[in-house]
Amino acid sequence: MNISNRNTINLKNKMVTIIGLGKSGCGAAKLAHYLKANVFVSEQTGGIELKQNLRKIQSIGMEGEIEGHSEKIFDADLWVISPGIHQNASIIVKAKERNIPIVGEIEFSSWFTSAPILAITGSNGKTTTAYALTEMCKTKEIHGVLAGNVGIPFSEKILEDLKSPDSKRIFILEISSFQMEFILHFKPYISLLLNITPDHLDRYESMEEYKSAKFNMIQNQSSDDMIIFNADDPSFDNQFDGYPPVKISFSLYKKENAIFSVNQSKIYTKENDKLIYLNEIVLAGKHNLSNLLAAATVAHFMHIPNKHIEKIMASFTGVPHRLESVITLQGVDYVNDSKATNIDSVKVALDSFNKSIILILGGQYKGGDFKELLPHANNIKTVLAYGQAHQTIETALGDAVRLYTFNSLKDAVSKSHLLASPGDIVLLSPGCASFDQFDSFEHRGDLFKQWVSQLEEQK
Ligand code: ADP
Repeated sequence: MNISNRNTINLKNKMVTIIGLGKSGCGAAKLAHYLKANVFVSEQTGGIELKQNLRKIQSIGMEGEIEGHSEKIFDADLWVISPGIHQNASIIVKAKERNIPIVGEIEFSSWFTSAPILAITGSNGKTTTAYALTEMCKTKEIHGVLAGNVGIPFSEKILEDLKSPDSKRIFILEISSFQMEFILHFKPYISLLLNITPDHLDRYESMEEYKSAKFNMIQNQSSDDMIIFNADDPSFDNQFDGYPPVKISFSLYKKENAIFSVNQSKIYTKENDKLIYLNEIVLAGKHNLSNLLAAATVAHFMHIPNKHIEKIMASFTGVPHRLESVITLQGVDYVNDSKATNIDSVKVALDSFNKSIILILGGQYKGGDFKELLPHANNIKTVLAYGQAHQTIETALGDAVRLYTFNSLKDAVSKSHLLASPGDIVLLSPGCASFDQFDSFEHRGDLFKQWVSQLEEQK
């Protein structure tokens, strides 16, 4: 199948194989089916959820398989793959040998809309920024719809759009580097680049490879489009020279070229008008101020009035599992930052509080040096290290801070309760993936919240 011109792509009666039956695989399958393709869905693994997904797919007239790929996957005009599939996986290599075009779910979905796309990427802050920006982009003139890596497949939203078109619709997409591995035509109107720090080095061989996956997002942008980037992140210095889009930066510190600037007390415009006082913003932490500035800068170029941007900044309370306040027990604040799956996220969490912190670290080690936390450790009272990474954490930090190790997060939570005094914060900001003991960071955060709310009875 020739997919070189996105405007002439027609799926009718084409054989489309969808690899992966998670959320984005199901969404892509339904979209392809709606566009009259012959869809075959194939999933390597099994389990109850995937069985249910398969049944749903079959009930609407598509074919599929789980628990392994059969040869049927190669009987295809096009492959749409889920972000979990590695680009060097043997089935990908085989499909390439057979000249089957392979695209990711984001690329595939993007063929079927001409609405503006605001795409957000970076190592940290994507979800928070995407939610804030979506709120800012809900006005009479613009109907912002959130999708992508936030757990809402783009394909699902495109299908809704095809079924009920709306000329005011724009898409706000959170994009992970994995989702940018199979890009051909994807072309955001605005690409927002938040920061790049060493993450996912288990999947990419080097920072350069990781960076280059993220930069795929801007590869098709033209001079009518924009790149908005964080001038406080040196890894973006001179990185966009030679790219055609208009470049605009946002910054907590640098005022040149910024749409909004920050001083001790407020965010203000180029004309020196106040946008909002900092003490009116609910979200804690400098990193979140940077995320809000990023969202506001994009919103400005979508012609959102400052009044509306201000209103969202004053009311936005963030997203669960990101510095989420759980409960205050006997003067101790319990904070769930389960989404902090890398060491940089832990640093920003530590910098967000002026109180003494009992820090729970651990889970599945993703790389990085926990010693990097030390310059941010002034407020740390104790570290509780749990799970697969507990030894690595102990080796890195054991000499510098008081540290206890545990096999399970639950045991670490119980200990935190015994160690905490009024005025302390117990902060779950694990700096590791969750998969050694949990299904996801959400699962880990939800159980943390549950265990914390059962604590009072134990003391
Ligand atoms: P993402 O979707 O990129 O993973 P989130 O908004 O879910 O980002 O935030 C995840 C964690 O990353 C937060 O809990 C916080 O610790 C950290 N974080 C958020 N924004 C930033 C930022 N701008 N710079 C550094 N770290 C951040």
